[in-house]
Amino acid sequence: MDFQNIEKLPSPPGVAVKLLELFGVPEVCLDDLNKVISADTTLTARIIKYANSPVYARRHNANSLNQAITMLGANGVKIIALTFSLIDAKSTNESKSFDFDNFWAASLATAVAAKKIYGDSGNNPDTGFLTGMMLNVGQLALYCNATEQYTEAMGDRFVYDLELIKIEKDVFQQDRYSLGAEVLRAWHFPEQTVQALKHYSDSNNQNTFDNQAISLASKMAYVILSESPAYEFVETITADLAVLLGISVDETEHFFSVAMQEYSEIASILSYECPERKSLKEIELEAKVKMLEMSMDLHVTNAQVTKENDELKDIAFVDPLTQLGNRRNYDSTASTELARCGRLKRSFGLLVLDIDHFKHVNDSLGHAAGDEVLKGVAKKVLSSLRSYDQVFRYGGEEFAVILPEVESGLSEKIAERLRAAIESSEFNYAGEKISVTISIGGYVCHETDILELDEIFQHADEALYEAKRSGRNRCIVLSEQKQDKPTPANPVSAITGTPPMSPDQHASPR
Ligand code: GH3
Ligand code: MG
Ligand code: MG
Repeated sequence: MDFQNIEKLPSPPGVAVKLLELFGVPEVCLDDLNKVISADTTLTARIIKYANSPVYARRHNANSLNQAITMLGANGVKIIALTFSLIDAKSTNESKSFDFDNFWAASLATAVAAKKIYGDSGNNPDTGFLTGMMLNVGQLALYCNATEQYTEAMGDRFVYDLELIKIEKDVFQQDRYSLGAEVLRAWHFPEQTVQALKHYSDSNNQNTFDNQAISLASKMAYVILSESPAYEFVETITADLAVLLGISVDETEHFFSVAMQEYSEIASILSYECPERKSLKEIELEAKVKMLEMSMDLHVTNAQVTKENDELKDIAFVDPLTQLGNRRNYDSTASTELARCGRLKRSFGLLVLDIDHFKHVNDSLGHAAGDEVLKGVAKKVLSSLRSYDQVFRYGGEEFAVILPEVESGLSEKIAERLRAAIESSEFNYAGEKISVTISIGGYVCHETDILELDEIFQHADEALYEAKRSGRNRCIVLSEQKQDKPTPANPVSAITGTPPMSPDQHASPR
């Protein structure tokens, strides 16, 4: 198969061809650029939008193409216009697995990462952007020349999976970068970009700045695009950034977020989906929690590991705002307690608490005031419970209380005590006294080996929903009777609490 046969590639659209001609002109006249770009109205609109995007944080807005060209500079405009026009080129042989949008999204992510690396190291950011943008064009050539074979070889991998580079070598005996250089030459790209790809494909040249920068940009692109990139990957990037740019671990997050922001802005101009990305810190935390869970499974007892685990346990199981156990903590504690109560044939109760109209607190007094109320409610609930009951911050302004071995009728009393305690409390924030109420839904089961924790939560949650619907500031505790099979439609229930003081303005129950 002749992979040099680039005829099968989607050829660059007319605007791109004309722009590429302008790359050969040393001093491009702005009028010429304007003429080429303004022939395409979508492209023109996108470039104006790009010039106005917040990454540039300029004082004045560009209202016309001419202003955008002046703001971005001839070279900057040529490159972004070329990018937009190439991305728009439609292919005729698109398959489900090789998603062209994904391909260009990956190119874009590599471009913004390379631009940042080049810019921060005193090199020309535009050079980095263009090289990054075209880096994987050889992959496109391989796919377009051998669509079926390529689709089969890639399996269910994403287009931007870096493993594909090796697979291409194994299956096609081709290196995407040297092939890419050929494509770019045929497309009359600037010689500098052609050489950059050639140079990158040469394994003897691994240690040059350009090659290290491009390799790093590819890895960064992978993290920008992946929903949950492996933490080892993030660690490699952090190490590379330290070596290449002398960036500290703490600065890495900011470095990354700048590239990420530029990516999302261009992606939004192109109407690409751009889901919220996790921060590097979140990726690290998740990886550590996973490690911790694994080491707990293995009962690691080594003292050093234990010390590190203690710190991690705090991060993993304690809600930093209220200092209560978090959702993960609830999941593991509640299921252990439920199993224990089941073994001993004792009852198990669960209350779900939700602050009423909490959004109103945030909206009227600010998020910080809301936080203060959350802390206050947590403290009050904690101090109103029996010593063996446990309260967790289940999420947002919702709390879960586990009542192990709770005697018949007691759970209703506890719920009512909590409700009344919050109703009569005042929380202070910046001299402001804030009062809130809570609604509580509960479920108590006696034959604890019958229901799963999820089902118990669901019944309690349904009771909470009913408490909200029937006026808020009240408790509804459902109870499964001994001997009876749990029939949530016909449970014994206890409703306590006061009717609402004023008609409820808020339509939705929760
Ligand atoms: P309802 O009585 O139906 O429960 O009304 P609500 O306003 O409490 O219900 P909703 O669930 O719509 O709003 C919950 C709000 O809690 C929305 C969210 O912004 C806020 N919230 C969640 N977590 C936090 C937090 O950690 N701090 C602050 N200040 N607000 C939070
Ligand atoms: Mg609420
Ligand atoms: Mg809620």
